[in-house]
Amino acid sequence: MGVLCAQITPLEGEGVSMTESYSGEFYCVKCKAKRQATGQVVVNDKGTRMAKATCPTCSTNLNRILGKAT
Ligand SMILES: [Zn+2]
Repeated sequence: MGVLCAQITPLEGEGVSMTESYSGEFYCVKCKAKRQATGQVVVNDKGTRMAKATCPTCSTNLNRILGKAT
């Protein structure tokens, strides 16, 4: 349980296709540790917002579920 320093850039208005970035903690399954990383926010087909980043230590892909998109 660490302090989350998430910086999410909110999308202003609708129909704006802007790449959203997410900076915060991701859990790396390979390192078995939390890593600070910056990645891209994507929305999957179920409407769930996910942040995708790369582990700075082992280059494993990191995923973090941010919640349902509105
Ligand atoms: Zn790692």
